[in-house]
Amino acid sequence: MAQETMSFQAEVKQLLQLMIHSLYSNKEIFLRELISNASDAADKLRFEAINNGALYESDPDLKIRVAFDPAARTVTIEDNGVGMSREEAIAHLGTIAKSGTKEFFSRLSGDQQKDAALIGQFGVGFYSGFIVADQITVESRRAGLPAGEGVRWISRGEGDFSVETIERVRRGTSIVLHLREGEDELLSSWRLQAIIRKYSDHISLPIVMRGETWDQEKQAMVPAEAEETVNQASALWTRSKSDITDEQYTTFYQHIAHDGQAPLAWTHNRVEGRSEYTQLLYVPAHAPYDLWDRSQQGGLKLYVKRVFIMDDADQLLPNYLRFVRGVVDSADLPLNVSREILQESRDVKAIREGCAKRVLGLLDDLAENQQDKYTQFWAAFGQVLKEGVGEDAQNRERIAKLLRFTSTHTDTPEQNVSLAEYVSRMKEGQDKIYYVSSESWLAASHSPHLEVFRKKGIEVLLLTDRVDEWMLSYLHDFDGKPLVSVARGDLDLGALEDAQEKEAQQKTGDALKPLLDKMGEVLADKAKEVRVTFRLTDSPSCLVSDEQDMSGTLQRLMKAAGQKMPEFRPILEINPEHALVKRLSADDAAFADWTHLLFDQAMLAEGGSLDDPAAFVKRTNALLLAKG
Ligand code: ADP
Ligand code: MG
Repeated sequence: MAQETMSFQAEVKQLLQLMIHSLYSNKEIFLRELISNASDAADKLRFEAINNGALYESDPDLKIRVAFDPAARTVTIEDNGVGMSREEAIAHLGTIAKSGTKEFFSRLSGDQQKDAALIGQFGVGFYSGFIVADQITVESRRAGLPAGEGVRWISRGEGDFSVETIERVRRGTSIVLHLREGEDELLSSWRLQAIIRKYSDHISLPIVMRGETWDQEKQAMVPAEAEETVNQASALWTRSKSDITDEQYTTFYQHIAHDGQAPLAWTHNRVEGRSEYTQLLYVPAHAPYDLWDRSQQGGLKLYVKRVFIMDDADQLLPNYLRFVRGVVDSADLPLNVSREILQESRDVKAIREGCAKRVLGLLDDLAENQQDKYTQFWAAFGQVLKEGVGEDAQNRERIAKLLRFTSTHTDTPEQNVSLAEYVSRMKEGQDKIYYVSSESWLAASHSPHLEVFRKKGIEVLLLTDRVDEWMLSYLHDFDGKPLVSVARGDLDLGALEDAQEKEAQQKTGDALKPLLDKMGEVLADKAKEVRVTFRLTDSPSCLVSDEQDMSGTLQRLMKAAGQKMPEFRPILEINPEHALVKRLSADDAAFADWTHLLFDQAMLAEGGSLDDPAAFVKRTNALLLAKG
């Protein structure tokens, strides 16, 4: 087919502009990106060849070759991987497939270091070639296609690119960068090798280059005949721990996780026994932009006997550990394993359990010995880990120990109180762990329900994450102490209450009975019951849920999520010591207004919304005016 010229997708144009101008100080990353693509292409070929050995043709030794030509001022990265057909070249080198591009643009900070890291994370690596090149020529032939169906793709990194069909005998891809003015320092094997060792040492294929030798006749360095392997070229995880430096672990992480930052921690083990595998698992230092994207499952890279099988194998980790990145290399699974087989395999189940144990062990260790790191971990992934309380019954207690909350003791929105710490601070006679839940830290820490607890100096956990209520439906106790909501059912402080106090309260309650009944009639549609409480000191009223009903916070969350729900009417509790309540009289003409006001106030104080806000405003104004 003749040469045709096509336009880049608008996002690509924008990206190119940005890349060329903002990543200049980090320009050497282009080599990392192009080598990483070559390595991916080799992985893809190996995988396809499992069912079709003919794809190797007569060229089974996969490698990456980097070369340069001082006369032509080009640097070439070549692989004998899977290659691209004409259609694939158009699709993959002309558009950005991932939906994250918009997100990418919105996250650019102007800080070149950070923006460079984003490029890897968002998979826009190929275009980074244009940082140093003002023209890129790609020639490729897809494995399995005849020599006559090669493709040449050329672009100057501006608005468009051209493609034409060419004759290409060699399988795979060669990428020729025509260097921009001023980039001649790249025309040196010393310089290129240094970049390769810095960023691509962990690549498991050999990256070969011809060295240089001194030519007496020409009185200059000239390319040597022999090729040498520049990188270590062995899969990092197969090497023994003692031979791997922290820096090597870190660059490997950055490669597989597409993350410019260093990981927070890692664990690397060979597991032997019923199921044999190697695991290298990393906890990232920060949440990826798509942590909450349901379609983004996470997962590990799966290898079988060092052959790459698939990315994002989400069966290898429980869902609540989806932030973990890494590699599992199994000795037992068949090479032609599919996602379907993974779901049923007993070996996979053993691997999943083994990986979960390792990661939890790693987290235990951070929590115990490196609190700063654990705090950082918790801020990034704590909400996800909480899902484990519901998801992983086997490890529930272990996960419970890793949970962190805010509490009335610390009085900061930072979640740094563990359940064990709470228990160690429990008052004499206290046998429960108290918590209050609300949609925000401010609302929770000002909740009227806390008043009596503050007065008695009893610590209460403040739960403000969306998953908290759901999590607590699985976590009934810790260390033998039940977890109890301060906004649910009758307040029973057990041994924390003294007998005299109780008796006095009983009397007050009895005396107010007729008034409470009348209030109950007024609020028949809104409240299940009206009763006296002694949990309040400053507020006149609060709402509580009946023991078996859903809490107000959870109801609101479910409503917000569009769920239909049965009507759970709350119980209105009033504080008999409060001036507003003391003044309340059933004979007052404004009695109904006062009653509604006490209910509505209580609803607002716990972060709820009113069914009829206008009526609330009207009533409040009427009462304010009547007073004046
Ligand atoms: P990513 O590697 O994250 O997919 P890139 O921009 O680096 O993003 O590459 C875009 C796509 O171009 C790749 O997904 C791949 O399909 C194709 N590609 C790039 N380089 C090669 C190569 N050397 N061999 C085969 N395909 C390639
Ligand atoms: Mg890439």
